[in-house]
Amino acid sequence: MLQWMRLRLGRTATLILLGYSLTAIAVSGWIWHAKHNLQARPPMRVIDVSRQIEMLNREVTLYVQALSELNNPEQARLLWSRVQARQHTIQGLLRNFVSLESNFKVLELQIGQLRQMVEHPPEYLPQAELMGFVEYILEDMDIFASDVHRTMQLIIADQTRQLHRYSTAVAWLSLAMFLSGFVLLTLLILLSKQNQKLVRLATEDGLTGLLNRRSAMLQGKLLAAMAQRNQHPLALALLDIDHFKQVNDVYGHPAGDEALKMLAQVLRTYARRDTDVLARMGGEEFLLLMPETSEELAEQLCKVLLSALADTTITDSYSFKLTASIGLAVSEQGQHDFDTLYRMADVALYQAKAAGRNQLQIAEHD
Ligand code: GH3
Ligand code: MG
Ligand code: MG
Repeated sequence: MLQWMRLRLGRTATLILLGYSLTAIAVSGWIWHAKHNLQARPPMRVIDVSRQIEMLNREVTLYVQALSELNNPEQARLLWSRVQARQHTIQGLLRNFVSLESNFKVLELQIGQLRQMVEHPPEYLPQAELMGFVEYILEDMDIFASDVHRTMQLIIADQTRQLHRYSTAVAWLSLAMFLSGFVLLTLLILLSKQNQKLVRLATEDGLTGLLNRRSAMLQGKLLAAMAQRNQHPLALALLDIDHFKQVNDVYGHPAGDEALKMLAQVLRTYARRDTDVLARMGGEEFLLLMPETSEELAEQLCKVLLSALADTTITDSYSFKLTASIGLAVSEQGQHDFDTLYRMADVALYQAKAAGRNQLQIAEHD
């Protein structure tokens, strides 16, 4: 897995990814642990224990009074059941508070002993001694209550500390999430821009911005297949600049490049239908593919192009004019495939050159 990541992502990216994942796992684990701790020992439960101890204190006193002073066994039984219920409640509240729990067990043992003493008093047990034991238990209850109080303070201090760390961790985690989101988004934007650039590089001609040969062939095949299927017309014009070699020789290569760009601009200006395909096929040869265009319309457009080009002055360090020749092939009912149409236009272009250039030749139908 690591080997695979290293191969795919590179060493540094893999290390960053691993570091980020481990940190995220550690911080999340710690937050989970802190949350568990906060929930397991809530201070409110300890506050409740203090109140319950006060009530137990009163109920034990009343219970002893009912038996030893009032001699009312019926009321004593009722009070004892309350004492037991109270002890049960306190035990429940003390879960997870280990030291308080064991202290409370001692208190419960003493209360049990007290019950035995008051319910079966040996004849010789004087009232004063019984009261002394009651006092002793009540004092122990007070001590327990102060234990509870101290524990509560410790818990609150501990939880305040934990809460502070918890909120710091959450803040860091949020910041890390924000940063990674930001980085991720930036990378995505860069990636999509890079992608667009790659697509442009793969489909466009760098000098003129027209489609390149490869995408022209693809689109041409598609349009020819559609025209064939629907039996609709499709016209293909091949345009080649006349004596372009001389332009380079006389004015220089940069002037030649400028001429190619201006020619592309002229083509864009006149072939404005969205469905028209304009491409530079290489060198100084251009293609114009016109779907849904009859021979008559295509011929008109080609003538406009020739005269527009002849009227255009190429301005670079020199100023000069150019002409071009066009070979046009039209498949009136989509009967020709793209390669055939292209070949026909190429033959027509050769004829235009042979006939003296700066003119249009329309391919013969077979
Ligand atoms: P013809 O009238 O028979 O077409 O003559 P031509 O000189 O135009 O024909 P040829 O195909 O022999 O010459 C094309 C020239 O176009 C040759 C090459 O130097 C030039 N060329 C091809 N690509 C570029 C380019 O990107 N920039 C420039 N400046 N010139 C180019
Ligand atoms: Mg040429
Ligand atoms: Mg050429």
